[in-house]
Amino acid sequence: MAATCIFCKIIKGEIPSFKLFESDKTFAFLDINPLSRGHALVIPKFHGAKLTDIPDEQLDEILPLAKRLAKAIGATDFNVLQNNGRIAHQMVDHVHFHVIPKPDEKQGLGVGWPQQPTDMAALKALFEELKPKV
Ligand code: 5GP
Ligand code: ZN
Repeated sequence: MAATCIFCKIIKGEIPSFKLFESDKTFAFLDINPLSRGHALVIPKFHGAKLTDIPDEQLDEILPLAKRLAKAIGATDFNVLQNNGRIAHQMVDHVHFHVIPKPDEKQGLGVGWPQQPTDMAALKALFEELKPKV
């Protein structure tokens, strides 16, 4: 827990929220400025700014819960989004996963997809260690 973090305060109940789910290590609530009806946030209770700051065992409920929320909201089309860092549009420095229903073209998340040239050979070497060893 971080004393000044607004999402830690929401977990502790020091700031009110529309709570959707709570377990020992996970919390979910409605976004205060929704992009669409039912826009929810799923967070680990473990405080960390970026995904790379959170231990694996604190993340294992997140995707199943995002899935359950999408179903509960009744979304057939939706985005799951997790931003890391200011230029990647992160405003709150406590890891959070957005579940954003996309009921039509106008509501929900709008995404730009500006493709860039890349260097596959160098990337292959970089990710080599992820391959299962046989
Ligand atoms: P980010 O840009 O960091 O990925 O998203 C932060 C999200 O947190 C925004 O969608 C914003 O509306 C939401 N948010 C910020 N402050 C609060 C708050 O006090 N309560 C709730 N429920 N959501 C918040
Ligand atoms: Zn926090």
